[in-house]
Amino acid sequence: MTQQLHIYNTLSREKEIFTPLNPPLVGLYVCGPTVYSDVHLGNCRTFISFDMIYRYLLHCGYKVRYVRNITDAGHLEGDRDEGDDKFTKKAKLEQLEPMEIVQKYTLGFRDVMREFNTLPPSIEPTATGHICEQIEMTRKIIDSGYAYVSNGTVYFDVENYNKKFAYGQLTNRKLEDLLENTRELDGQDEKKGRLDFALWIKAKPEHLMQWPSPWGWGFPGWHIECSAMSSKYLGNTFDIHGGGMDLQATHHTNEIAQSQACNHTAPVKYWMHTNMLTVNGVRMSKSAGNGFLPGELFTGNHPLLEKGYEPMAVRFFMMQTHYRSTLDFSNEALQASEKGFARLMAAIKTLDKIKPTAASTFDFKALQQKCYDAMNDDFNTPVLVAHLFDAVRVINSANDGKENLTAQDIDSLKTLMHHFVFDVLGLKDENAGGQNTALLDGVMKMILEIRAEAKAKKDFATSDKLRDALAALGITIKDGKDGAVWGN
Ligand code: AMP
Ligand code: ZN
Repeated sequence: MTQQLHIYNTLSREKEIFTPLNPPLVGLYVCGPTVYSDVHLGNCRTFISFDMIYRYLLHCGYKVRYVRNITDAGHLEGDRDEGDDKFTKKAKLEQLEPMEIVQKYTLGFRDVMREFNTLPPSIEPTATGHICEQIEMTRKIIDSGYAYVSNGTVYFDVENYNKKFAYGQLTNRKLEDLLENTRELDGQDEKKGRLDFALWIKAKPEHLMQWPSPWGWGFPGWHIECSAMSSKYLGNTFDIHGGGMDLQATHHTNEIAQSQACNHTAPVKYWMHTNMLTVNGVRMSKSAGNGFLPGELFTGNHPLLEKGYEPMAVRFFMMQTHYRSTLDFSNEALQASEKGFARLMAAIKTLDKIKPTAASTFDFKALQQKCYDAMNDDFNTPVLVAHLFDAVRVINSANDGKENLTAQDIDSLKTLMHHFVFDVLGLKDENAGGQNTALLDGVMKMILEIRAEAKAKKDFATSDKLRDALAALGITIKDGKDGAVWGN
């Protein structure tokens, strides 16, 4: 409909009109999780943002092939091709096969994605399932003169590549600046240049995941998997490549170099990057120790959480911030989103109760246009949400007899809400079973009162018994300064 979709392209640092290479087809590749541990809420933010982007492209009528990989090999602990790979380390720690680690966390990741109501990608390729493709790509890069073999490991020759192409273009940095900020080689290094990175890594005999290659037994570097799998499923040049902002400087910069060196063309038309989820201003990450898990968020079982939050309230919280802005987690912000989400759901139900009038006092077309304009402006979901709340006010006023809506208005509003709230923002009414939730709320209120009375009388046996019995049902109680709250 209406105005064209504009996408902010990291490569040009501008918003550009989106013109797919082969409309109505759109190729979308997003770097997926490294499945050696549970995904934290920060990872989820990136995948939920791309789910919204995927959903809007579908809503616009594009036929999208959405590829999101699973990194199940080759991701080393250090970013300079050193250390064990993350799977081998975890496997030794947990005394499991590396592929048991992969299976456990892949299933966990899919469960979490389902909780957040994300659509499954069209293809979810794994690094271990594409070893041949990665070897073949490495071989071609050697043949084209941009990689060399050193003691069984294959390195990409960044300085040689930079003679013809601009390495570092994605983050607008020149090779000289990058070199200045990189550690000198220590003389023992197998690399020729400080910025060279591994395409294929020679494995030590004790390394658990290794494969034969023209250069001996080894395993692929982390970056090559995305180049190999994106070109396999989406072609040598495709429309959109996405991931978190932290991947720009190294992972995506190296992906561009590999694909260009192998396929002699720039791989991606639009590079999209999501900003980070932070906690008290610090980026959420496994290493910072502030990475709480979605499960902890739903139950409230984490020191940073005052209570549990439902997945859809969390998704709504994320949609209230633009994907390119940082999003800081706080209990207050989440509780505000919880209320906002409940108001939105209530208004959608109210639409069924409004009595239509013959004439209208409301300009539906203008509202609809504003919603599309917001999404067409680089997927501006916070502005979209503001317009949806304009609709909520109109709906509530009409219900109070202060605004006139025709039957046509009411129908159009229902469709609009359905399209934007459910199809595009990917929300769903978790209380569709309505009555049961109200009943549970009532029962829980009563139980918490009984428990508070028991505690007041120092009858701790009863208060603990209630807490433990609820815990067995998956309901946690948290005592705060304003009394106890519960979550499940
Ligand atoms: P990983 O499993 O570490 O490879 O990360 C998977 C995805 O999550 C990548 O696209 C990262 O950029 C993204 N990511 C990691 N930490 C955060 C965060 N705090 N906020 C948003 N995205 C993140
Ligand atoms: Zn990737």
